[in-house]
Amino acid sequence: MFPQPVSRGRTLIGRLPKGSDLMAEINRLCHEENIRLGKVQAIGAVSKAMVGFFLQESREYFSLEFDYYLEIISLQGNISIKDGVPFTHAHIALMNNEGKMIGGHLIEGTEVFSCEYIINEYMPEEDKTFHRVLDEETGLFMWPLK
Ligand code: ZN
Repeated sequence: MFPQPVSRGRTLIGRLPKGSDLMAEINRLCHEENIRLGKVQAIGAVSKAMVGFFLQESREYFSLEFDYYLEIISLQGNISIKDGVPFTHAHIALMNNEGKMIGGHLIEGTEVFSCEYIINEYMPEEDKTFHRVLDEETGLFMWPLK
């Protein structure tokens, strides 16, 4: 049940290589470091971006592609378990060369130009609380309410 107290684990700080896929690289890091619950935040820039928007009626994501340079103003997300492995759910706010903001639900297809990240690991009292399951009401994979 929520909220659930968690204790702090490691804090990982680093940068991602130019040309890597932002979403895939964060997931790869979480697998490699076995982060089962955590918070991720990052800033930097991308060469192109791919974000999703969830259509609540049809219960599916459509994707938006921005094929130009953008600054990462804020990437915020959490890490938990989906299908038995670490899974990142992140949203990203990006700025174009006119200072205008765009953003969305981060999906694969966003190419890193530069990226500095901080990942905070947490330890829940009960690990299974943060295993994502299909929520019938929304069609999304979320943490179970009970
Ligand atoms: Zn989302």
